[in-house]
Amino acid sequence: MDIRIDNEIFQKLKLIKIEQFKENNQTIKFNHKIYRLLIKKLRRHFHRQQLAKERDEKIRLEEIQRDNDPLYQAWIIQKENLRIQKEIEEEQENEKSRKLREQMEIKKQEQLRKNIEEKQKVTNINSSTHNPFVSIPIANGPSIERPVCSFYLKTGVCRYNERCRRTHNKPDITDTLLAVNMYSNFEMQYGLDEEYDLDIGLEFEETERYENFKDFYYDVLPEFERFGRVIMFKVCSNSEIHLRGNVYVQYETDYQAMQAYKALNTRYYAGRMVQCEFVNIPSWSTAICGLSQFGKCSKGRRCNYLHVFRNPPLKSIEKDKKSTRKHKRSKSRDRSTKRKKHHHHHHHS
Ligand SMILES: [Zn+2]
Ligand SMILES: [Zn+2]
Repeated sequence: MDIRIDNEIFQKLKLIKIEQFKENNQTIKFNHKIYRLLIKKLRRHFHRQQLAKERDEKIRLEEIQRDNDPLYQAWIIQKENLRIQKEIEEEQENEKSRKLREQMEIKKQEQLRKNIEEKQKVTNINSSTHNPFVSIPIANGPSIERPVCSFYLKTGVCRYNERCRRTHNKPDITDTLLAVNMYSNFEMQYGLDEEYDLDIGLEFEETERYENFKDFYYDVLPEFERFGRVIMFKVCSNSEIHLRGNVYVQYETDYQAMQAYKALNTRYYAGRMVQCEFVNIPSWSTAICGLSQFGKCSKGRRCNYLHVFRNPPLKSIEKDKKSTRKHKRSKSRDRSTKRKKHHHHHHHS
């Protein structure tokens, strides 16, 4: 604080106070005693002012100090953060209750819609003798086009048989006969094969099972060959019931297949009745599981495509040279016929 300025102010104020007193108290003679009283009063006033100033200054300094105090600053920041946190929480709370109200509104509307539908169902049932859950009756107008069953289309069989929801276009007479479940071995007969996921398809060669299949092959193929040349002979090793032990026999003509059907259907083989069907196999490569041929089908013998035994080389081909010559002209993917050629050639050399 500048004392000089204060003194100047004090001197000026002193003079003003004296003049004021003289003016206000003209009847009183101004003397030294009055002068000292005025000074004393003025000094007290100044002193009080000074104290107040100092006090204010002290508070101001304290405030500055406090504002610069890192602890104070930290506290302020904490307080501010708390305030923000609280605001966020309040906002979230508002959002939550808003969503809850929305959901409740949706549920209410859904319930309302359900109630209306329920009422409509009841009126439908009452107004009609038809079961509302059954689609348009077949007798009523043109039948609805159902998608074609791809399993039946490719393999001639389907696990659902007549119950399949897709269309099975049953052919009347074709060049291919299917003897349903005709082949059976001990394991297949007692369902033991289902316990194993081993694929006994083309890879299978040296076990009893293959020997069993070979016996069947050499026993049955000549029976079918009595009616015409067999260009494809496939026996399924699948464990699925609709494919299990299925024997596919493709002739050169529909006529040959029909002759075989007439002679063999409902006949008995190995104590079991032979059931034959005409099937249409558009492509053997799509009917037969491609992966099974490399032993890589993940479904194993539960596969819905044909898993077939590898046909053994033919034994008695030399007795029918004509058919072999015919075969040379026809194009075939069958491995058995290729082997047929080899075998035949071998016999001649
Ligand atoms: Zn089907
Ligand atoms: Zn397969």
